[in-house]
Amino acid sequence: MKLTSRFKFYLLMIKGLIILVHEWALAEALIRYVKELSKERGVNRISKLVIKLGILQSIDRNVLEFSIIELAKINDLIIESLVFEDEDAVLRCRVCNYEWSLDVSELNEDVREAVHFVPEVVHTFIKCPKCGSRDFEIVRGRGIAVKEVVFRGS
Ligand code: ZN
Repeated sequence: MKLTSRFKFYLLMIKGLIILVHEWALAEALIRYVKELSKERGVNRISKLVIKLGILQSIDRNVLEFSIIELAKINDLIIESLVFEDEDAVLRCRVCNYEWSLDVSELNEDVREAVHFVPEVVHTFIKCPKCGSRDFEIVRGRGIAVKEVVFRGS
């Protein structure tokens, strides 16, 4: 019994660490890009930073937000407002080539949560509206990108 719960605890810890490393790496790439822009402009104060997140990207927004803010400090960037925007998913059927967009708000909460954490499970819940196949690819909705950077005084 004791060993089992300890094992579960380790698993949880490892899962937590993986999430941290993943979000931190994404934040690093974003901040590197923003830092380049900031150097070009000669301005280090950003009044608004908009990040576009694919709804099928498995990500912990709180951890990502924390990482971006911490990395901004290290890079001498001041971000006054950080905004996350959802990017809809577009799926394409491999059988009949039909392309459709997925509105995650139509899914029930449990499914949405599962899809958010492991995007691959989307194949379990969704099928092509035209031919009913579950063999489809994700065309859009897994990415993460800087959508808008508004510098102070620009
Ligand atoms: Zn189809």
